[in-house]
Amino acid sequence: MFAGETQFLKGVVAMSGLPDADRPEVCFAGRSNVGKSTLINALTGRKAIARASNTPGRTQEINYFTLADRYLVDLPGYGYAKAPVDVVARWQALLKAYLQGRPTLRRAFVLIDARHGVKDVDEEILSLLDSAAVTFQAVLTKADKVKTADREKALDRTRAALSKHPAAFPELIVTSSETGHGIDVLRAVIASL
Ligand code: GDP
Repeated sequence: MFAGETQFLKGVVAMSGLPDADRPEVCFAGRSNVGKSTLINALTGRKAIARASNTPGRTQEINYFTLADRYLVDLPGYGYAKAPVDVVARWQALLKAYLQGRPTLRRAFVLIDARHGVKDVDEEILSLLDSAAVTFQAVLTKADKVKTADREKALDRTRAALSKHPAAFPELIVTSSETGHGIDVLRAVIASL
């Protein structure tokens, strides 16, 4: 359902630009530099479908991809310290409207750097997801950068942070786009939704 079937559809800057809600969709959110573009590329088996961001925080579009009979939605990265205040405000408003106004949204995947766990800027989006009642699942990225000995502790910390959120799906997905670890698990979850 993935390789060869993923096409870029459009970049959206306002709710009016969203495609018709005529099929299930999943979205991806995460801090700038968390590895979102790389993960989407690994997931779809394509080299450059989501442009890896050279300038974090620059892309403020919601990017729609078609993936077989559903949409894969790449939300703009958040938490870039140098992003201008008005850009951040616009992005928050669009994000809120999107999360509250998309009945076909089946699940949000929130990417969390396996080394850093859930940060304050992540908490903001997790709270938005709670209030919009959108089930979200955490996807840990860059797992190859965490020593095996530290992994369980890092996972426990992240689980504890997520357990405070009513909209959190209890299972984490641990991934590395570098080694390919967990990519098949994520694919299977998306296919099952
Ligand atoms: P985005 O801003 O969330 O789209 O992040 P990118 O996909 O552009 O990735 C940010 C940086 O992290 C890039 O230098 C990537 O090569 C690196 N990166 C992404 N995923 C992984 C991973 O799984 N392992 C390692 N070691 N590096 C990664």
